[in-house]
Formats: sequence, structure tokens, C-alpha cells
Amino acid sequence: MKLYVDRLKDSPTGCEFEASDAWRSEAEELIPELRGSLAEPIRVALHAHRMGQDVYIEGVLTGALDLECSRCLVRYREPLREPFRLVLEPAGTRVPAEPEAARALARHGICLGDELEMGWFQGYEIDLGDFIREVLTLALPVQPLCREDCRGLCPHCGVDRNTSPCDCDEQRAKSPFAKLEALKGRDR
Ligand SMILES: [Zn+2]
Ligand SMILES: [Zn+2]
Repeated sequence: MKLYVDRLKDSPTGCEFEASDAWRSEAEELIPELRGSLAEPIRVALHAHRMGQDVYIEGVLTGALDLECSRCLVRYREPLREPFRLVLEPAGTRVPAEPEAARALARHGICLGDELEMGWFQGYEIDLGDFIREVLTLALPVQPLCREDCRGLCPHCGVDRNTSPCDCDEQRAKSPFAKLEALKGRDR
């Protein structure tokens, strides 16, 4: 996922990337929940241009994951779509204090700031691989759900409440009254 700074103009240039196997295995190493769940290749479509000395990048990451619903435990496909933006300033003579950031700048021509939307570049070749992995982590659902209103498994009888109803809820709803009835009965 390389961007060549010397080819960029003042007007946006479009690029598309499909994640390589190497990128994917590194992503799976860093984000264990991706292992075995990437159902479609991760794709990136972006536009990049120069803004004075800076490089301005705007794009979207897409893909799909096969995940297990956290409520009903069914496997389902989660489409991924994460827009992103990145402004890179020339690093110039700046050397990042963090060794990891300094390494990234030397090896990949890019290091990111504390905020994901900002960073520095060096040289003419920017490898966006690490940045795109960060974007992917943002795209992952916090709570995997097969659908927004998944009713989940009944905690009492274990039935999937999306497909077959059970009357546990109804009985529980009755129970406060049942207790009340019992109390009343005791008073009498
Ligand atoms: Zn579900
Ligand atoms: Zn039930």
C-alpha cells in the first residue's frame, strides 16, 4: 500500500489497494480476533494530493468479517466500512522520540502522531500498511451483533429467541405478582 509522494499533484489522485497476504498475516498477529474471521479481502480506496509541502489523504477501508453474534452466538457476516483522513507533514530533520516511531519513519517513510489523523512523512515512498491496520482496528465492532435488535438466547431455557419464542419472559413478568399474591396470602 505505497504512495509515491513525487507523483502527487495539487489535485487529488485516486488509488486503490487490496491487502496482500503479508499485510493480512501481520494484521492477524496484531489483532487476534481477525484470525479466521476475515471473509473478504480488505480493500482501500483513497485520494491523495499535495497541499503545499503536506500530503493530504482521504479514503475508505472496506471488507467483511465472519463473526459470532455476542447475543445469539450465530455466525454472521459483518460488512466493514471505515472512512479515514490523514494529513502528513514533511518530517524534515525531526526525529521522533519514540524508537518505534523513528523506525517506522526510516523504514516506511511515515510515522503517526498521537492522533491517527496526523503524522509525518520522509522521502518519496510512503507505506500506508501500518496506518491502514490502525484504521481496521477502528472498523471492528465493539460488540458483534447479527442484527441491531437481536433478541439473543434465553438465559433460562437457552432457546434462540430470534427463531422460536419461549414463555420464560412471560413467567418472569408474572413472578412479582406471584410473590405479591403469596404475601397477601400470608397476611390473611
Ligand atoms: Zn444474534
Ligand atoms: Zn426461555
